[in-house]
This record gives sequence, structure tokens and C-alpha cells, in this order.
Amino acid sequence: MSVKALAAKYKDEMIALRRWFHQHPELSLKEYNTSKRIKEELDKLDIPYETIGETGVLGTIKGGKEGKTILLRSDMDALEVTEKNDFEFKSVNDGVMHACGHDAHTAILIGAAKILKELQEEIPGTVKLCFQPAEELAQGAKMMIEEGHVLDGVDGAFGGHVWADVPVGQVDVTEGPRMASADMFVIRITGKSGHGSMPDQALDTVVCGSDIVMALQTIASREISPLEPIAITVGTFNAGTRFNIIAGEAELTGTTRCFNPDIWAVIDKEIERVAVKIGEAHRCKVEVEYHKMTPPTINDNELAKLARESVVKVMGEEGVTRIEKTTGAEDFAFFANAVPSVFAFIGCANPDKFEVMPHHHECFQIDEDCMEYGAAVYAQYALDFLNQ
Ligand SMILES: [Zn+2]
Ligand SMILES: [Zn+2]
Repeated sequence: MSVKALAAKYKDEMIALRRWFHQHPELSLKEYNTSKRIKEELDKLDIPYETIGETGVLGTIKGGKEGKTILLRSDMDALEVTEKNDFEFKSVNDGVMHACGHDAHTAILIGAAKILKELQEEIPGTVKLCFQPAEELAQGAKMMIEEGHVLDGVDGAFGGHVWADVPVGQVDVTEGPRMASADMFVIRITGKSGHGSMPDQALDTVVCGSDIVMALQTIASREISPLEPIAITVGTFNAGTRFNIIAGEAELTGTTRCFNPDIWAVIDKEIERVAVKIGEAHRCKVEVEYHKMTPPTINDNELAKLARESVVKVMGEEGVTRIEKTTGAEDFAFFANAVPSVFAFIGCANPDKFEVMPHHHECFQIDEDCMEYGAAVYAQYALDFLNQ
């Protein structure tokens, strides 16, 4: 049987699984029942696996012939969202919801495992099935790689996200940057408080902080090429206690996003330099705490072409779409940074069936047909990569 036919064969099982995961969502690093259910499914398929960390699962399908190794990855955590959908399989865990679609990802990877298991004898190499926790915290991929050594001996990786901006029946596997880096910074300013009527006797951190907020924007507009997309956002600015007291301390927090690894490598130094030097100009002390959280997710150019062919095989030419990259982030980037990789956006929107809501919305939903396509693309790409 072809991958396409096998995906159709397992469609209903995948939908049932996804509904179970949807009904029983668990927060990042607490995916205990999700992990248990994944292992039960792998047991049924006679696929060996190991547990990574507390909830990560790494299954292995060793093909009938020798060859390369590919890692297929799905994430499995839910969010602190109270579900407002009224499905019969609506979340039973109060305040927790699969509002990003990771329930579908988990079911898709189990579906791909079912397909590949049937084709095991023909597989020239090894397929690793990586069920990763804590994507929403951007911690799970790093943990799987650093503690679980899941990339040992792996030649390439593939991951995907069901995507509300793409209609069901289409998949994007465009080459190059697909998702941005996502970092977080804290800037602490120390001055000297005083009477609002006598600024000469104080060191005003509100004025200093305001200058820093504005100067940070000049990194984007004056320091980095206008051809390079970047976002530098200060999200909070806390200072002061009273209208007529000069604030002696202030704290700013913010995030940066970019797609170019060379910029990502230096953006922390640039923010620190600008903030500290502006602080000096105001005679204030400035400390910058910068957390590099997620690198940009970049698809390998050659493998993206291969993935396009895989999509065509299971969905036809009309199944391929190209969408603009997004400033959202994905910790799949840690895999893509380590081995040549492809990340797919799997269309799940269907305005004829439901009102399409953004990811993380309390009424987020998907067209479940996307799982058949998703599993087919995962499995077909694995075969194409190993046969290459
Ligand atoms: Zn999300
Ligand atoms: Zn997500």
C-alpha cells in the first residue's frame, strides 16, 4: 500500500486519538498521561521506545535495510487557556486547553508511526519518533537533545505545525527562514529618588528608561540592514510610586525576534551596549539580563525541495503552498540548528466548517482532515529522506 492509502486507512484512528489528547490536555513538563498514552500506542505497534526526562518519548523503527537515520518530531503540551468550544471531547482539565494544536501533532506522529510500521521491511535506515514535551516553554527540544541525546546518529529532522493561516489540504515546506528567534531581556536601572520639584538633586530613572526604550528602536532602524526583519519590543516599564516623587529605580522587560543567525548572535550585545551607554549619559547604573531562548527556525534549502516532492506525492501539486515566514518562534529550531531539517506548516483552517480562530485562542479548532495529510507527509518525507 502507498503512504497515501495507509494515511487514509488510519485517519479515523488518528482522529479518535487526537480527540482523546484534546480532552486530556496537560501543561508543559506535566504531560504525564499524554506520555503514558503515547507509550501504550507504541506498545500496540510493537515499537520500542525510551523515556526522556519525565515525559518525553523517543520511539525507534529500525528498517529492514541499513541506511541513514531521520528524526520525526511532534510536540505534546497544552496551554493555560480555559476552553470555550463545546465539543463532546472538550477539555476536562479546568483551565488547560490544547489551543495550539499539539494534540493533533501527537496523533499525527502516532499515525506516521502506524504507516511506517507497515512499511518497515522496505525502510532503508532508521526512523526515530520524537514526542517532545514543553514546546510552549521553549525548553523541551533542548532537554531532549542535551539530556536525552536524541540526535545521536541522526542525519536529519522533520517537524510540523498545524497552521490556522493555511487551508486544510495544503502544506508549506518553503526553504530558508520560517520562524523567528524569540529572546527575553530585563533592563534594571538604578538612579536616585528625590522630590519631583527638584530634579537636579535626583537621578531620574523614568527619563533614563524612556531614552533607552527609544534608543533600542534605533538598533532596528539604524544599526541593522533595512533588508533584515527584526522586532525589538519593550513590553513592560515599571517605575515610581507617586506623582511627585522621582523614581530611583526602574525595570524594563522585552523581547526580540529575528531570522538571521548572524544577527541573533549579536543582538544581546547590542541591546546591552545601548542600554548601558544611555544609562551612563544619564548618570544611572544599568544592568541587562538577556535570555537567549529560541534560535530562528531555518529550513535546509535542498531538503525543503525534497519535502515539496514528498507533499506532491501524497497530496498532489495543489497540496503545496508557500506562505510568508512568521515572527512566532518554535523550539524545533534546536533540532534544525543541529542537523539539516525541514519544518512544515500543515493547513488546518476550513472557514466552511467553522470560524477560524488564531492559535492560543479559547475557541481554537482545526479541520481534523489535516491529520491524514500531516501523517502522510511525515511518513513520505521520512522514506524520501532515507531513500535519497
Ligand atoms: Zn503555541
Ligand atoms: Zn504550537
